[in-house]
Amino acid sequence: MLTETAMEDNQSINKLWKFNTLEENTELQSRKKNKKPLTVRGALSMLNGNVNPIDNRTVIPLAHGDPSPFDSFRASADAEDSVVTALRSASFNGYATTFGLSSTRKAVANYVSKDVPYKVSADDVYLTSGCKHAIQAAISAIAFIPNSNILLPKPTFALYDAIADFYGLQVRHYNLLQERNWEIDIGSVQDLADDNTVAVVVINPGNPTGSVYSYQHLQNVAKAARKLGLLVIADEVYEHIVFGRNPFVRMAVFASLVPVLTLSSLSKRWIVPGWRIGWLVTTDPNGVLQKSQFIERIKAFLIISSEPSTFIQAAVPEIIEKVDKEFFSKCINVLQQDADMVFDKLADIPYITCPYKPEGSMFLMVKLNISMLDGIQDDTDFCMKLANQEKVIILPGSTVGMENWLRITFAIEPPVLEEGLERVKVFCQRNAKA
Ligand SMILES: *Cc1c(COP(=O)(O)O)cnc(C)c1O
Repeated sequence: MLTETAMEDNQSINKLWKFNTLEENTELQSRKKNKKPLTVRGALSMLNGNVNPIDNRTVIPLAHGDPSPFDSFRASADAEDSVVTALRSASFNGYATTFGLSSTRKAVANYVSKDVPYKVSADDVYLTSGCKHAIQAAISAIAFIPNSNILLPKPTFALYDAIADFYGLQVRHYNLLQERNWEIDIGSVQDLADDNTVAVVVINPGNPTGSVYSYQHLQNVAKAARKLGLLVIADEVYEHIVFGRNPFVRMAVFASLVPVLTLSSLSKRWIVPGWRIGWLVTTDPNGVLQKSQFIERIKAFLIISSEPSTFIQAAVPEIIEKVDKEFFSKCINVLQQDADMVFDKLADIPYITCPYKPEGSMFLMVKLNISMLDGIQDDTDFCMKLANQEKVIILPGSTVGMENWLRITFAIEPPVLEEGLERVKVFCQRNAKA
């Protein structure tokens, strides 16, 4: 009798906890079943799990998005001191005001204003826990609009796809043109946009492409977005990390043509992604957004989110003011040296084609000449075998929407990068068709 009751109890409890009835599923299995590409994190854990444990060489990571562990990319001592001072003051142990400390919002507004032909006000700045949180705020506000969709680049930054997927927001991918320095194919933006398209995401400098768009190109994109009635979401998390022909130009320069949401953070330019501080800035001199519910939704989202740490917020004005050109130019010099090397070394590997030498950010996309390789099925297979045979970790292009391409991160000490590329070459030669 007792056991029967216990069984009944168990059954009703199982019914109660609805998540118990969900099939247990590894990410890989469920993505395969749904024909969804592997996520970046999923791919990285799979690749790192495939390195040969008896090979005693060090792993060479060329798939990361965080160079902070490497000596050449160590954060500025001035930035660290600013955080210590803010913490030690004991003035920032409490909650910050909604949307962020006003002194910090003002400092970010002034910082962004330097690059645009008008004044950004502190009220246009919302502090977030990194750029990722700003992306989430923007996408959740768009997803609120019934039947809406957004345009993302291909190759993509997969976080946008993942967040849109979570909120049930439809995405469409416009092309980036490899033969034109990965410029935006404006024709494909026009073809994809319809009455329900709310925004187009522009990532500049580019992840994963390493491209840096010219003033002219950004202006053309702004004009096209205006014609289509699209908000531009400008992901500028690699702002000012440029080392090629074009200077960095903010999309918000064209805000008189089209409203722009600028998303960024301290993570990449200051190389402190673990500090989790970023911002969303609305630039809308014509007041298009102000009339909409959109900003209200962003505010509502941020009100229910956890705020970035108050003492980190408090350190931002001093970080912006004190971290000097010397720090940035040191990082950029290393990145430029790395970009030169990766381009030259790949030119020596006929199994890989590199259409464009990166001019910004810390990534590039290269194409695998898969038909020249023996027994390698696709980009994921290439990366799995490379991890196993050579202990080099590279991201399969399919995780960013480009099958049989690779995304290489070059932000690492130059000698380590050189060694990694040498191993890639040896790997290709070993797996080449006779
Ligand atoms: C790293 C990255 C982000 C996220 O930045 P966090 O500040 O670390 O959240 C957003 N967009 C792109 C393109 C990135 O590469």
